Amino acid sequence: MPELPEVENVRRSLTAAVDGTTIAAVRLGAFTGCIAAPEPDAFVARVTGRRITDFGRRGKYLLIALDSGDTIAVHLRMTGELTVTSPDTPTGKHHHLTFVLDDGRELRFSDTRKFGRLTLLTPDEAAALDRSLGPEPLDDRFTAERFAAMLAARSRAVKPLLLDQTFLAGVGNIYADEALFAARIHPLRPANSLTLDEAARLLDSIRVTLAAAIERGGTTLRDYRDGLGRPGNNQHYLNIYHRAEGDPCPRCGEPIARLVVVQRGTRFCPRCQPLPMP
Ligand SMILES: [Zn+2]
Repeated sequence: MPELPEVENVRRSLTAAVDGTTIAAVRLGAFTGCIAAPEPDAFVARVTGRRITDFGRRGKYLLIALDSGDTIAVHLRMTGELTVTSPDTPTGKHHHLTFVLDDGRELRFSDTRKFGRLTLLTPDEAAALDRSLGPEPLDDRFTAERFAAMLAARSRAVKPLLLDQTFLAGVGNIYADEALFAARIHPLRPANSLTLDEAARLLDSIRVTLAAAIERGGTTLRDYRDGLGRPGNNQHYLNIYHRAEGDPCPRCGEPIARLVVVQRGTRFCPRCQPLPMP
């Protein structure tokens, strides 16, 4: 499912392809539940005729800024896709909403699992969304000292904390497992048990993991495509997330272990990522 690197690739591809175009019309499919707010009629009325001034990103949200000051926040969740196509491309049955652009092309939202949502936000609502999310891990102003202080204030296990978007924005199951493996930190370590060195190593691992995945176009395990319909390439570079329990650790050969943490499958190496004795 799309995490920060995938949404960043959607952002970049759409910026290059359709930034500055105007939404001439909106066509809704049968599933209007993909619009979280406002009501579909109001959503259509407020975006029609508006020019797209910017594609931004905050955590896993794609933020489409309009010249009215409103922002369309798109959360792709499991299988949502936002792609620009020619009007000749046939629409599929999982295709729920189309922004018809003034140059004739179409920006289409499709979603097989129907968990993805579009929300039209006023400037105040966009600011509230921003405040509700934790820091951006790739923001240079976000320091290891601050990350260490955030961890020190929490007794929760580190893996679920990394998945909590109010704690840190953008990291999901794939990159949490990859970053913890790279940093050699057990997913169930209480956050406040990490030393300053470990916190710095973890932040560095998160950044390296995310930045590399962005450069490789994101991770496509099944569905993910960027704004031009292209799959990513990072799935060929995963170290731990895709491996089965018992497979050898790519670093030390120890059989990989699996845990379920907040209902999410979690892989780790018991030798490289030991849980210290209390
Ligand atoms: Zn290992």
